[in-house]
Amino acid sequence: MPRPLRVAIVGAGPAGIYAADALLKSAVAVEPGVSIDLFERMPAPFGLIRYGVAPDHPRIKGIITALHQVLDKPQVRLFGNVDYPGDISLDDLRSFYDAVIFSTGATADRALDIKGIDLDGSYGAADFVSWYDGHPDVPRTWPLEAEKVAVLGVGNVALDVARILAKTAEELLPTEIPPNVHEGLKANKALEVHVFGRRGPAQAKFSPMELRELDHSPNIEVIVDPEDIDYDEGSIATRRGNKQADMVAKTLENWAIRDIGDRPHKLFLHFFENPAEILGEDGKVVGLRTERTELDGTGNVKGTGKFKDWELGAVYRAVGYLSDELPKLPWDVASGTVPDAGGRVIEESGEHLQSTYVTGWIRRGPVGLIGHTKGDANETVANLLEDFAGGRLHEPAAPEAEAVEAFLGERGVRFTTWEGWYKLDAAEKALGALEGRERVKYVEREDMLRESGA
Ligand SMILES: Cc1cc2nc3c(=O)[nH]c(=O)nc-3n(C[C@H](O)[C@H](O)[C@H](O)COP(=O)(O)OP(=O)(O)OC[C@H]3O[C@@H](n4cnc5c(N)ncnc54)[C@H](O)[C@@H]3O)c2cc1C
Repeated sequence: MPRPLRVAIVGAGPAGIYAADALLKSAVAVEPGVSIDLFERMPAPFGLIRYGVAPDHPRIKGIITALHQVLDKPQVRLFGNVDYPGDISLDDLRSFYDAVIFSTGATADRALDIKGIDLDGSYGAADFVSWYDGHPDVPRTWPLEAEKVAVLGVGNVALDVARILAKTAEELLPTEIPPNVHEGLKANKALEVHVFGRRGPAQAKFSPMELRELDHSPNIEVIVDPEDIDYDEGSIATRRGNKQADMVAKTLENWAIRDIGDRPHKLFLHFFENPAEILGEDGKVVGLRTERTELDGTGNVKGTGKFKDWELGAVYRAVGYLSDELPKLPWDVASGTVPDAGGRVIEESGEHLQSTYVTGWIRRGPVGLIGHTKGDANETVANLLEDFAGGRLHEPAAPEAEAVEAFLGERGVRFTTWEGWYKLDAAEKALGALEGRERVKYVEREDMLRESGA
């Protein structure tokens, strides 16, 4: 009897869910259709939409509602709280599925190799983001004693971190932040947040909308030094060729020429300051040394040899995320991704690792917005279906849908399901309703499992 094409997707973030969507939409010619199981190490799906996107961005968090439509489909199942390879290995997956797509994203901070990076008070943005977004696997408290804080990096994550540090706890209370985060933010002493970029306004990687949003808080005075507005030929070419870069530069120019107001928290955006060393005393951060840079004509910068010390009590590096290496898959150390060709995992020999695919940040590296993972998933799925049509997928030993449930049950894995997400969702909304808020997140893994009925 013909059976559906069975596909496992490891990682239920946007890339994994878009891959499921693409499979459902593209596999119309496959008889009798496809059957997709998503494996996710967290008890809840949605990846960085839940544990990365800032809580004061409800519109972006709302993408979850659109993704519901994919997981609502009867051909799609979710197995949450299941870790690859701890709970299910590549061999296990191969025994149940015709093909496996890995979409495990990125969770950690990329390293920054400067003196003082290991001092107490030097933090990775990813850790702080995980804390304020209520990730179960990070500590429940966060030290927020510094009055002056540095954020290194000029991308959207740097803006998120700077904004959350500069807003008041009360401003963030209407969001979904859990009680421990609200308590922690109430103790935040930050009065000045200094964001540092090595290059100039034309090279900043901010999205124009995210940048402008900084100025919407009644508590944040955004300050740009007119001395930091500078362009060379390379910068002018960038602005001409990239509308977003031009909009960002225009906003920064406007902020540089206006009078400084009296909102209580100051957020400085510094350019042409290259972090050279984090300064410490008794093992603790006391400052940051930067080297002034200047444009070299091409849009790049060179050091001027002029150093400046900034008195600061904490330094957050927002210099990029990094993916975890996936056991049993090839790995490119330099890019921190799984090598691929059009989403097909490529072994060192140059051969396609049969029936194995990647999509999202684990494929492309940790850059780009949620929407970008959609096109990526479409390409990966198109190649998977091409391999299926060409008879190049392997034959699983136990393709029946029940086999994997029995396997996880025998292993004692307390997995959550899509129905379980609806229960957790309702429980978080009920928790929020008690305080007139839309949602309050559960943080403890055990609480999430209980509310999901795992
Ligand atoms: C701090 C931050 C803020 C952002 N804000 C925005 C924003 O406002 N707007 C926007 O459009 N984009 C934003 N982005 C970008 C967006 O989050 C990414 O483009 C997108 O999440 C990448 O999708 P992904 O599915 O590849 O990875 P992820 O979202 O990381 O999803 C990967 C999933 O795989 C799971 N997983 C990992 N390892 C395993 C394993 N071994 N076994 C099982 N499961 C595993 C993870 O738990 C996770 O659920 C932000 C990113 C960050 C870091």
